[in-house]
Amino acid sequence: MLNIEIDEHSGFCFGVTTAIKKAEEELQKGETLYCLGDIVHNRIECDRLEKLGLITINHDEFAKLHNAKVLFRAHGEPPATYEIAKRNNLEIIDATCPVVLKLQQRIKKKWQETNGNDSQIIIYGQAGHAEVLGLVGQTHGAATVIESSSQIDQIAKDKNTYIYSQTTKSLEGYRHVVQEIKEHVDKERECESFNTVCGQVANRLNGIGEFAKSHELIFFVCGKKSSNGRILFDECKKMNPNSYQIEGPEDLDLSLTTGVQSIGICGATSTPKWLMENCKTTIINYNNK
Ligand code: SF4
Repeated sequence: MLNIEIDEHSGFCFGVTTAIKKAEEELQKGETLYCLGDIVHNRIECDRLEKLGLITINHDEFAKLHNAKVLFRAHGEPPATYEIAKRNNLEIIDATCPVVLKLQQRIKKKWQETNGNDSQIIIYGQAGHAEVLGLVGQTHGAATVIESSSQIDQIAKDKNTYIYSQTTKSLEGYRHVVQEIKEHVDKERECESFNTVCGQVANRLNGIGEFAKSHELIFFVCGKKSSNGRILFDECKKMNPNSYQIEGPEDLDLSLTTGVQSIGICGATSTPKWLMENCKTTIINYNNK
């Protein structure tokens, strides 16, 4: 008898759930709603919302837009985006996740306190990622972004140093980078780190490893651009080499399920539950043929 389990801890985090709920509420009013960037790193969920009327635009299109309603997604935006909105008479539906908002405020405050004071702010994150752009914007572009300890030479040794993490990075990776930076910066300088990895991501890491171990075959459902998806899938793969990343049911290699007794389906904080359910149904239908 084939057992297929969907990981109960996988699926949207509260930041993404809130952003999608806000979009759905606005769309129900029947007015045109734009979203600056993909509302979630999941093409299939974006397509669903676009069918309801959501119009996804990029930053160039946003800058040319006037007198319209625009949703800012959970990743947050730098101050410059709010200035454009004001200039162009845009109504903002701000779905910035409260965790990201708090991090933006902390970075801004630290930058205001230390700017011009032989100090530097370091952000451990993915360069160019929307959340990271929003964080760097709090320092007027002055913060240094590093993705790994191989970029440590970009950090000045002779400055007081304050280190933050993008919310969706791995805690293990962050701790490693902090350790390396502390060894790199001159001892007489201050070097402080702040653990700003989101609990929604950090807490899922152990759980997903255990889940992956408990099944013969794992399908990890996630958009290719998801930052936490990469981390969670790596953990699945580490704990169960028979793990496969897919974007949706159409990517399933169903031949892998033949003769298997136990299949686990899990995903990232940007993976809708309904999509994992669809994958489960597709596997059941194939095996009942
Ligand atoms: S992962 Fe955390 S910080 Fe990012 S949107 Fe979800 S709840 Fe907010």
